[in-house]
Amino acid sequence: MIICRTKQEVQSLMGDWRGEGRSIGVVPTMGALHEGHLSLMDIAARQCDRTVATIFVNPLQFAPHEDFDAYPRDLEGDGAALSDRGCDALFAPDRSALFPADFSTNISVAGVGENHCAVARPHFFDGVATIVAKLLLILRPDAAVFGEKDFQQLAVIRRMVRDLDIDVRILGGPIVREADGLAMSSRNQYLSAEERAIAPALFRTIREAGETISAPGARWDDVCERATKAIIAAGFSSVDYVNFVDASTLDPLERAGPEGRILAAARLGETRLIDNIAVAPVRAA
Ligand code: AMP
Repeated sequence: MIICRTKQEVQSLMGDWRGEGRSIGVVPTMGALHEGHLSLMDIAARQCDRTVATIFVNPLQFAPHEDFDAYPRDLEGDGAALSDRGCDALFAPDRSALFPADFSTNISVAGVGENHCAVARPHFFDGVATIVAKLLLILRPDAAVFGEKDFQQLAVIRRMVRDLDIDVRILGGPIVREADGLAMSSRNQYLSAEERAIAPALFRTIREAGETISAPGARWDDVCERATKAIIAAGFSSVDYVNFVDASTLDPLERAGPEGRILAAARLGETRLIDNIAVAPVRAA
């Protein structure tokens, strides 16, 4: 696996591959890789001739009170995992390689970038959109793969790419879970043993909510209230939101109808966990 630390190095490699007629698939990450990330590498490898992972803990998407400094970093371990998985190149730039001191541009996606996670993290999606746009413009891949684990983020990126005419195919990969249902996340490392035992309740609850809202006559207000109480009863400290939305617009739904998604975020001690689940469309009788 080739490791690139500067824009010049990675652009020269991309140029070589394009010159050979190879298609390129990229998987942007913040490192501390787990099977969820590696499953996206497999998707990239199935769709493209050459695969690139990027690892960059993006300062733009952390608020000052959030965990930028504490965010897990393990470049050596990540490099080994990527190489074992057959990744062709890793782009791991320093902050100074991407951001001049007077960097002053911001990409903000209205609509799908509002509500849900944006309520508790108002600058988060601007930070994500801006770094992803930069990475796509530097690498100019044929495809970029993102996880459905961050469902709103995937919607924001799809919208940005469409609106800005960035010539790349955005692919979504399914959520990879631990055996007990907890969605894999680099932040799961923060959980104490006691919190780790509580954590799968988030997935259990939204899965049950998904079954309940699909039943004839069910109304989201009632299902949401029960789900919120169940998450707290399981031992979570607070619930940021449990929302039922149209899977493509992320607009709220009151009852099952079009293809839906339940999105949720809740806090367990100091750790904020997010998860989501598909709700199959209900056809009119
Ligand atoms: P992160 O390093 O957390 O920024 O995540 C990088 C990419 O991996 C994003 O597209 C995430 O949605 C995706 N990802 C993270 N966790 C999972 C998971 N459990 N299953 C599938 N994709 C994931």
